Amino acid sequence: MRRHLTYSLALSLAVLFGLSGAASADNKLKAVASFSVLGDMVKQVGGDRVEVTTLVGPNGDAHVFNPTPAIAKLLASADIFFVNGLGFEGWMERLEKSSGFKGEVVVASKGVTPLTMGEEDGHHHDDHGDDHDEGGDEVPDPHAWQSLANGKIYVANIRDGLITADPAGKAEYVANATKYLAAIDAEEAAVKVAIAKLPPERRRIITSHDAFGYLADAYGLEVISPEGVSTESEASAQDVAMIIRQIREEQIPAVFLENVTDRRLLDQIARETGAKIGGVLYSDALSKADGPAPTYLGMFRHNIGALSAALSS
Ligand SMILES: [Zn+2]
Repeated sequence: MRRHLTYSLALSLAVLFGLSGAASADNKLKAVASFSVLGDMVKQVGGDRVEVTTLVGPNGDAHVFNPTPAIAKLLASADIFFVNGLGFEGWMERLEKSSGFKGEVVVASKGVTPLTMGEEDGHHHDDHGDDHDEGGDEVPDPHAWQSLANGKIYVANIRDGLITADPAGKAEYVANATKYLAAIDAEEAAVKVAIAKLPPERRRIITSHDAFGYLADAYGLEVISPEGVSTESEASAQDVAMIIRQIREEQIPAVFLENVTDRRLLDQIARETGAKIGGVLYSDALSKADGPAPTYLGMFRHNIGALSAALSS
């Protein structure tokens, strides 16, 4: 009888211990990611141990997100919160405060060399440029995930954040991250090959908001955008007139729509210049699961495919 009791006590302790661990089937680590691109990366690294909730979902615009009380409640019950940083989530501080979130905040872009954007001149600068004496406010360009080399920095930050929040899962997070980093390397090699095939004078595109500065910087494209690095302010008539003139003078071959912005402005620009519409680029959000860009790497495959199709001839 005594033996039996001891046995069942040990058994229930084992069950109890199993269920209270962060990674058991019924009690996964609860992660929240601010937007869909980051949400996918956290899923890839977290694997089965992590339940990921994404605040700004597929095709959503995280620049202008307005968190509801339900979102604050959701965040309050999470263990770890992944954000992009670099000013992308202007609503984040308010949300963190109102939710009373006490978990770990991981800034995925930590360690990235930021590009900045002169608000006055509308051109990108790298952070170590010598044009800081021009006056005009320099704002960081938050879209760092559009370079796959930066994506690898995101993955390392995600991995380290998950290990801190759930040390028992370390081996799994390291294994998942290593596999994912290799896949990102392979994708980056493919991107470089695809862009190298384009005639140099055709590696120039127009998008509505300036989300592809890191892509352009990393892989040798020129991207011109009437709207700047946030979708919050609309392009002025003067900006649009300037871009129309530039497209005509420089014979820029294609304009691209984005999944997160209104297409009317680009339709107008294409109409007035005769530049062709090269399709939709996924900039700040993934597509839905059954769409053409349901993952971070899928987004690159789709975008580079669209660029190649529009610019190769
Ligand atoms: Zn954006």
